Amino acid sequence: MKQHFDSLDTTLLHGGISEDAATGAVNIPIYQTSTFHQQELGKHKGYEYSRTGNPTRHALETLIAELEGGTAGFAFSSGMAATTTVLSLFKTGDEILISSNVYGGTFRVLDKVFNQFGITYRIIDTLDLSLLKKSFTPNVKAILIESPANPLMTVTDIAAVSKTAKAKGALVIVDNTFMTPYLQRPLALGADIVLHSATKYLGGHSDLVAGLAVVKNSLLANRLAFLQNATGGVLAPFDSFLLIRGIKTLGVRLSRHNENALAIALFLKSHHAVESVYYPGLKDDPGYKIQKKQASGAGGMISFKLKKEFDVRVFFKSLKLVALAESLGGVESLICHPATMTHASIPYEIRQKVGITDNLIRLSVGIEHKNEIIKDLAQAFERSRKTK
Ligand SMILES: *Cc1c(COP(=O)(O)O)cnc(C)c1O
Repeated sequence: MKQHFDSLDTTLLHGGISEDAATGAVNIPIYQTSTFHQQELGKHKGYEYSRTGNPTRHALETLIAELEGGTAGFAFSSGMAATTTVLSLFKTGDEILISSNVYGGTFRVLDKVFNQFGITYRIIDTLDLSLLKKSFTPNVKAILIESPANPLMTVTDIAAVSKTAKAKGALVIVDNTFMTPYLQRPLALGADIVLHSATKYLGGHSDLVAGLAVVKNSLLANRLAFLQNATGGVLAPFDSFLLIRGIKTLGVRLSRHNENALAIALFLKSHHAVESVYYPGLKDDPGYKIQKKQASGAGGMISFKLKKEFDVRVFFKSLKLVALAESLGGVESLICHPATMTHASIPYEIRQKVGITDNLIRLSVGIEHKNEIIKDLAQAFERSRKTK
């Protein structure tokens, strides 16, 4: 019998399908099988073929649906596979609005892949609500947003965008990777589809690549189930197992990420090497108020710009604890250079326009002791000071 829990903390551990029906195992086994015996023609135990459905993946899909407050969840082999499947809902002539700071890969798949099929996109400033209203021309079928958005941590009012989109009959797709359902639940704010790169916080240990999508509307659920099976970018049983395991500790990890990130944002703000800090958990950040309204924390992602007296290349090279790497959301602190790494697929002119300059640095604050992260950043700042 399915039980409902009052708190997300408990749901993370016991939500979804938290016990194996066949054996009572407290962890859902890795059903490493491609196919399933059928008792007779047209009669089986709920599973036929693992692309269509697999018990380990199904447990994960049920869990994420419950955590996001949706009715159906879908697990994919990467965040981009999830995004691609969701974008496959659209057809030639449809236009999709995207916020100016979306993930580089999301921009790339729209620009280089879906454009070929006549599905177009338009980059808009989702912070300007009156402009947003005018952007919904009849062929706009959806708006895809991230909040806080990658990498400048700009906060979009998800409820306000959803209200506007709904009035125009467009779908609202929210990439909730940076927040996870533990901090922000877009479906409750009016969104139609939630996307995740579960590679990041949900997995949490930098040991798998996965994507998730969640919806609450049954029509959309049926269409996505069809597309997931038809296009086939599904998550493997072993990775589904790892992701369920990662999600169990999401609450404790994020509490620490939040706490560390705030301390480090304050440190950066006061440091003479730093020109500006982007973190919606800071009281004077432009996104602070909306972030506070729609999420229960500001998360572990911080971006900052180095002053021109400091050398970006030397700074990265001087770090000892914080690892220079793509990706984010793992237990270990990771740092990257958006202009040449995560956002390199965005053309130079657009990067300049949206503020992804060459002195911008993005830090995924891990759960190490915050003082050690600060110590590492401080010594790297000192080494990176340019000599005249
Ligand atoms: C990483 C990321 C993606 C892409 O996910 P993959 O798992 O790398 O395919 C999408 N959106 C955001 C916000 C991301 O950080």
